[in-house]
Amino acid sequence: MTAGAGAATGVDGSGDGNGGGNGKGRGDRTGPGESSVYENARLQFECAADLMKLDPDIRRILSATTNEIVVNFPVRMDNGRVKIFTGYRIQHNGILGPFKGGIRYHPAVDLDEVRALATWMTWKCALADIPFGGATGGVQVDPAEYSINEIERLSRRFTVALGANIGPDYDIVAPDVNTNPQIMAWILDAYLCTVPPHERQRSRRVVTGKPVESGGSAGRAKATGQGIVRMVEMWAREHGVDPGGLAYMVQGFGNVGAHAAFLMERAGARLTAVQDVSGAIANPDGIDPEELAKHARRNGGHVRGYPGASPIDDLTFFSTAADVFIPAALENQINHRTAPLLKVKVVAEGANGPTDPAGDRILQQKGIDVLPDVACNAGGVIVSYFEWLQNKRGERWDLDEVDGRLRKRMERSYCRVRETATTYRTDWRTAAYIVALERLQTVYKERGIFP
Ligand code: NAD
Repeated sequence: MTAGAGAATGVDGSGDGNGGGNGKGRGDRTGPGESSVYENARLQFECAADLMKLDPDIRRILSATTNEIVVNFPVRMDNGRVKIFTGYRIQHNGILGPFKGGIRYHPAVDLDEVRALATWMTWKCALADIPFGGATGGVQVDPAEYSINEIERLSRRFTVALGANIGPDYDIVAPDVNTNPQIMAWILDAYLCTVPPHERQRSRRVVTGKPVESGGSAGRAKATGQGIVRMVEMWAREHGVDPGGLAYMVQGFGNVGAHAAFLMERAGARLTAVQDVSGAIANPDGIDPEELAKHARRNGGHVRGYPGASPIDDLTFFSTAADVFIPAALENQINHRTAPLLKVKVVAEGANGPTDPAGDRILQQKGIDVLPDVACNAGGVIVSYFEWLQNKRGERWDLDEVDGRLRKRMERSYCRVRETATTYRTDWRTAAYIVALERLQTVYKERGIFP
């Protein structure tokens, strides 16, 4: 069995894989003339820093990553030979608390990408008002090419290679593209083998997004999708629209995209088009997300071939008329080529960095609203924080409690971003950054720079 069918992220977090991207064709993040992902993150930061007149010293600090860990580590393959893999952990900023962020397995993982993802995590935690800093890690690997046992050995060796660079009160990891609760359980188990026995109980919170039985939180698997749907509902209410009457399209049908679709369906909205790494499908009368998820589970995580919809090409996908577009795959998907095609009213960013600066400009010109990633997809890290807190306190919260607390935080973020956008007369992405930067600036000013 290959990891594509077993280790990549399942829509239910159970380990039924999506097969991952292949880093080519539809998997590409950048194309000719497109800027790097980190350059995009930097430009977004500069724009907000200029507008709010961020203190120049604090600006210098926040422009740099704090620690950049690169590890080359060996993994024994099923054929008995050893292969060397490259992994990363970038810790962008820790002024608000321990570093926090996902671990991604993808062939396109490189320094540029993880720097951007780590930076976005800093803004996301600051905006959500949770006491974490920003980090992200990953391994340059296409999990679809490896067996489940090889992915387990890779996950464990990567953890050991990171060593003391992660820790329960230092840097806490979580799932991201092509990683899932099972992989988090292996990372946790390997990490615990590296600490003294009396440290093991308190160390379990080094990983969030664990299986519930291994100390995970109720509601973590759906949390990112749930946060996105709450943001869309808030947007709909403000625009006098019934969420139940919305038509929407989703790019990426993994953890984030599928859970967002399940919850949009529950709100009565109609899913009209889906794209994943295997291709795109559409049905103007509606696609049943639960049925599609069953189909994907049987097909290596892929939506292609779903009998309840017709195959469409990528350009047709982006041109589909709908109210809401939820990108939930990779970076740079809404760009100078695809943004002109979009016929939606709002983009609810489930993925990190799905819109590049050229895409942003085009969306603004077209009057398409954007619920920016650092606000819209924060549900995952918010419930990761709840999981970390439960582990720290030896508590177990029930689903209602988790859902209720998540809902309040998403609503608070939405309102703060809206108010800031009004105050500064700016777009919502810049406003979201300003909320985060104001908080970071306050803490730097209070604490000062030593010596
Ligand atoms: P996942 O691995 O579960 O799913 C990724 C999906 O994207 C798959 O359906 C895959 O087929 C699809 N995909 C990959 N390349 C594609 C391409 N080029 N075009 C179209 N589809 C493509 O990953 P996930 O955890 O759902 O993460 C998706 C996005 O959401 C990422 O940007 C991630 O950083 C972000 N995110 C995830 C979480 C989380 O809790 N998992 C939280 C916040 C943000």
